[in-house]
This record gives sequence, C-alpha cells and structure tokens, in this order.
Amino acid sequence: MHVLVTGGAGFIGSHLVERLLAEGHTVTVLDDFSGGRPENLAAVLDHPRLRLLRGDVTDPHIRSAALDGIDTVFHLAAVVGVPRVLADPLRTLQVNVLGTERMLAACAQRGLPICLASSSEVYGKGVRWPAAEDDDLRLGPPTSPRWAYAVSKLLDEHLALAWARHGLPVRIVRYFNVYGPRADPAGYGYVIARFLDQALRGEPLTVYGDGRQTRSFIYVSDAVEGTLRAGTHPAAVGKIFNIGRAEEISIRELAEKVRTITGRPVPIRFVPLPEAYGPGFEDLPRRVPDVRQARTLLGFEARVTLEEGLKRTWEWWRACRRV
Ligand code: UDP
Repeated sequence: MHVLVTGGAGFIGSHLVERLLAEGHTVTVLDDFSGGRPENLAAVLDHPRLRLLRGDVTDPHIRSAALDGIDTVFHLAAVVGVPRVLADPLRTLQVNVLGTERMLAACAQRGLPICLASSSEVYGKGVRWPAAEDDDLRLGPPTSPRWAYAVSKLLDEHLALAWARHGLPVRIVRYFNVYGPRADPAGYGYVIARFLDQALRGEPLTVYGDGRQTRSFIYVSDAVEGTLRAGTHPAAVGKIFNIGRAEEISIRELAEKVRTITGRPVPIRFVPLPEAYGPGFEDLPRRVPDVRQARTLLGFEARVTLEEGLKRTWEWWRACRRV
C-alpha cells in the first residue's frame, strides 16, 4: 500500500513510518517540522519507498499533493505536549481542529480510510479509572488553557465519527503516555524524556507536585503496533481504541526507577505545581486505560514492560548524546 503519515517526522509518527517501510509499504510523510525533526527519520531518509513533504496539513495544495496516489492515511500531525499547548493554545486549536477537519474532508472526497491520533487527555480528570472508550468525560474550564488540547482532540473525534456516518472509514486511537527513543523532553512523552535527560546531565529529577499522581506508560513500539492494528482491522472502522498499558505507576516511583535503571543516583527535587506550570494549572492525579476493547477487537496487548522500555530509551539517549 501507499500510506500517508501526517506528522511522520514526529516522535510516534517516525516510528510508525519505519515500521510501515519495513513491512514493504510505500510511505509519504507530510510534516511541517514544527514539532517533528528530520533527524527522527535519519535511518530511512534515503529509503527508495519514502517520500517526504514539508508543509502544513491546513494548506490545500500541499494536502492535495500529499494525498496523490495514497491508499490509506494515518493522521498524527498535531500540536502535542503540555508545554507546547500552554505556550500557544490558539495554535493548538487551529492546527488540531482545522488540520483534521480538512484532512477528513479530503479523505471523504477521495474515499480514503483514515486513522486519527487522539489522546487520553480527552478523558480529562476522568469519571472513573481505568477509563473505557465510551465512558463519560470530565474536562476543566476554558479559562485553564490546558484543556484546549483535550477539547481540540475531542472535536476531532466528533468530526471523524460524523464523517463515518457519511460512509468515511475512520478509526480513532487514544494514546496513553507513549514514551521511547526520540520523545522530546520539551514536547510529547515529556516526563520520561525529561527524567532521562536530567539523569544524563547529572541534574536533579524534577518531580512536579508531591509525585503521588499516577500515569500508565506505553512503549512506542507497542503504540505503533496498536495503531497499525486499529488502522487496518476491518472491525475497527467507526471505533475508538485506548492504546495504552494498564500498569500504573506514581511519578515519584518513576523517578526512583529512572535512578535505578540509569545507575545515576541524582537527587529528586519536588517542584510545586505553580512553579512548574504557572498559576492555576490542574495536574491530573491519575490516568489509566481500560484496554479491553483493543484486546478483544484487535487482539492488541502492550508487551514491553516499563523496565525494559526505560532501559531501551536510556540506551538510545546515551548513544544519541554520546556519553
Ligand atoms: N512531570 C513531572 N516532572 C517533569 C515533567 C512532568 O513530575 O519534569 C509530571 C506531570 O506533572 C504529570 C506527569 O509527570 O503529572 C506526566 O506528565 P507529561 O507531561 O509527560 O504527560 P501528561 O501530563 O499529559 O500525562
């Protein structure tokens, strides 16, 4: 197949691109390199089956060129990561909503299947954990810019499902804290990338708040596997899938694990939330996926343990920083 991956030079996108090429597909990447980096595709840049286009998904000319000859689309291009969202909520909303709306319309016009990357952030503070795909959502108010991201992704999901009612084969994946090589300490996959970077520099690990908040982390190769299954399985059409790993860990325990795995006994520094994010930021006390829908319908199960994933990511950090 000829596959379009928007945001294909980003963290998750670049891993998806490598996997698709390895499976024999032809891949077009559309990326504006605002969050993505050409280095993320370094291993495949010269690949004969890779076509790389630089541009914005909201630009009709580049979008049309990108869709030329395409059989299926993975739409990952978005403004992601808490720091970027807080820095520019307007751009977050514009790129994430307009970009997706136009890509959905273009796919509908051409009859192309599309798999849309959404986020566990749409659950917000959560009504119950583990959260399942059709659970109610609980978001904070628009006066808190953090929620701009959740709202943008939620609107994307609504748009996708509305298009599905008009016959567009859409699938939606909600990622739960994906981490691994190429995660950007300033962007998505933030906390693990930051801790490893801090350990490497011999700096204290900055735990925000009291560190009792929990998350469930999924290694990027597992997230790619889940995405591919959702994006290709006939039973996935018109459905939403949590792509996550059910194991939960507190951020404080995560910091301790990073110290053990890296063998760098750096101190842990607790940073009050207002100092970390500015006033009024609401951090989420808990987030954990209900993974049954992906297991039942797609046969998908995350395989890489947190220890193993942290080791692999640490090795990559060391090699890439050459220390
Ligand atoms: N976090 C932290 N130290 C950091 C960066 C993040 O303690 O240097 C915390 C953050 O407050 C949150 C958790 O780690 O509770 C996960 O943060 P991330 O930004 O990775 O993802 P999200 O908040 O979207 O789950």
